[in-house]
Amino acid sequence: MKSLYLKFVIITISIMIVSGITSFLLSNAYYQVKLKPYNDQKNTNIALDIATFVGENPNTNLNAYLESIGNIGYHLYLINPNGQNKFFGSPFRDETLSDETIEQVLNGQIFHGMLHFSEGTFVTGFFANELTNTIGVPLTHNEQKYALFLRPDIELLFNEMRKLFAWMLLFAILLSIIMVVLSTKYLIKPITKLTKATKTLSNGEFDVTLDIKRHDELGELSQSFLDMVKKLEQTEDIRKEFISNVSHDIQSPLSNIKGYTNLLADETLSTEEKEKYISIINGEIQRLSTLTRQLLLLASLDRNEDIVKKEVFRLDIQLKELIKSYQWLIGEKGMMLGYSLSPTEIYGDPSLLYAVWDNLLTNAIKYNCAHGSIDITIEQKEKTVCILVKDTGIGLSETNAKRIFDRFYRVDTSRTRTIEGTGLGLSIVASIVKLHHGDLRVESDENQGSTFIVELPTQ
Ligand code: ADP
Repeated sequence: MKSLYLKFVIITISIMIVSGITSFLLSNAYYQVKLKPYNDQKNTNIALDIATFVGENPNTNLNAYLESIGNIGYHLYLINPNGQNKFFGSPFRDETLSDETIEQVLNGQIFHGMLHFSEGTFVTGFFANELTNTIGVPLTHNEQKYALFLRPDIELLFNEMRKLFAWMLLFAILLSIIMVVLSTKYLIKPITKLTKATKTLSNGEFDVTLDIKRHDELGELSQSFLDMVKKLEQTEDIRKEFISNVSHDIQSPLSNIKGYTNLLADETLSTEEKEKYISIINGEIQRLSTLTRQLLLLASLDRNEDIVKKEVFRLDIQLKELIKSYQWLIGEKGMMLGYSLSPTEIYGDPSLLYAVWDNLLTNAIKYNCAHGSIDITIEQKEKTVCILVKDTGIGLSETNAKRIFDRFYRVDTSRTRTIEGTGLGLSIVASIVKLHHGDLRVESDENQGSTFIVELPTQ
């Protein structure tokens, strides 16, 4: 498998090569179409100027004149009809030229060797130092006919520029390759780190660190990854704690049942003792049954919203029915219950919401003081309705108030330890309220009492 790094480097360098070749081909086409005719015309004018000057100044020393032009930066070739010829300036690389061409120029025609120089050649044709790549013009000096062939001495005129451009190109290519290699490493590094971190995570290790301080998409991805790891770790912790809580809460009633069943096997037990043990066993069975019922309900609440079967019903009537069913218990404990329940219609799941009021009311009874009081109120708001369950019980500290909605959380005081409970009731309440898109909060003062407030949308 090729690494992303290698692929990126190969692709970028390939792009550089392809664009280099393409731009070379395009500039060649531009040279052939535009520059070549222009270059030909320019040099034709220069050659004609020389021929005119020589023709108009018979006293000029032709050899010396052409010699000096050759020294300025031109390759020149002069030939007369007798075949006497001479080169000026630095020599041509290739000196072949057809007699026919020479003849035509001697007869007064202009030879456009530059324009017709091998069409197929690339832009490099510009540099071809050949006699066929020249401009040929007829020249008359002191009534002697000549043919003059000329081309600029690129070596002499542009040598430094050529070298400069060659070095520039070389440096540009080398630097680009180095930059591509380094920048790719910089780009790919976070992905390599992320891959490593993902492997660590898939091995069940949450101790993942990513020192990525970038502010681009990769930095964002790394941050999201770290957030996800944190959440996964929390979920894993909650799962472990949940399993250990469930195991403990099932294990302890089971061992009590086992212990008391063994005791019951003793035939010497009195009837009162037997009844006492049976009642303890029944209590434990009841506890187990409540626990499993609550766990099942929590599991189905967790799974999806389909469980919620909403309809419009009278909330005040439902609460009154609930109060009625607990009246005997409240009276037995010597407590007072007051309520203010104005007629209220609400759109929700009646049986799930019944479980909410049931939990809140039983808690208000369980965690109340002897002869304490409970108040249940409905407060109408514009689009919501608030149900307040207020007690004058043991109350909650600020820290405990924050945690009571967690699964299995029970305030651990000598007072609460004597009260039966699973620590699941309020988490069920919270889940149901959430499924109704409502809000649940508690206001409480230790040893003063608590008020649980459920705010639900009416529609
Ligand atoms: P359970 O009552 O079965 O223990 P809950 O989830 O209903 O579980 O309550 C969680 C904890 O919150 C209780 O154990 C208790 O410590 C505390 N709590 C709940 N209701 C009240 C209340 N009305 N006053 C004081 N503490 C309360």
